[in-house]
Amino acid sequence: STQRKSANVKDYIRTIVDFPHEGIMFRDVTTLFADPRGFRMAIDQMLHPYAGIRIDKVVGLEARGFILGGAIAHQLSVGFVPIRKKGKLPGTTISQDYKLEYGEAIVEIHDDAIQPGEQVLVVDDLLATGGTAEAGIKLIERLGGEIISCAFIIDLPELGGRKKLEDMGMDVSVLCE
Ligand code: AMP
Repeated sequence: STQRKSANVKDYIRTIVDFPHEGIMFRDVTTLFADPRGFRMAIDQMLHPYAGIRIDKVVGLEARGFILGGAIAHQLSVGFVPIRKKGKLPGTTISQDYKLEYGEAIVEIHDDAIQPGEQVLVVDDLLATGGTAEAGIKLIERLGGEIISCAFIIDLPELGGRKKLEDMGMDVSVLCE
């Protein structure tokens, strides 16, 4: 029988219950990334709001933001910049700490990766509490970058991340909840 492929990005995302620990519904986008139609659809839809808007750099948040951000930057013919967990970037960095469910984490960016006034699109797979994105936004703004928008595939609205970013004055775009 012929398999009908879905036209909805959401249908390519798998939910894994109790990963990485009990009580978490992990939204697994590897199944979306692995499907040629699903992956292209996600990239095309993430870019849709920005037609005609100048974007100078795409910043991806470790790790799934690298996969999305790389494809988006290529499509826009602009550069890609990673924000990584502490200790991974080889050059001179600036750091930002943020709260996790248990404890704290630190993310870093190369201090020469964004030039003042550059228009930046921030990319990650999923927006939960918004803590990761907020830390990334602070790093970009400390380098003088102007954030045009933050783009995600999935928003978990009950965790308040979208509201947190919008209360900071950010534009936020998501493909599904
Ligand atoms: P937060 O900082 O709380 O907004 O969490 C967002 C980051 O954690 C993103 O990089 C996500 O990939 C990851 N994340 C948080 N919750 C989930 C979840 N339920 N499923 C998959 N990834 C998640």
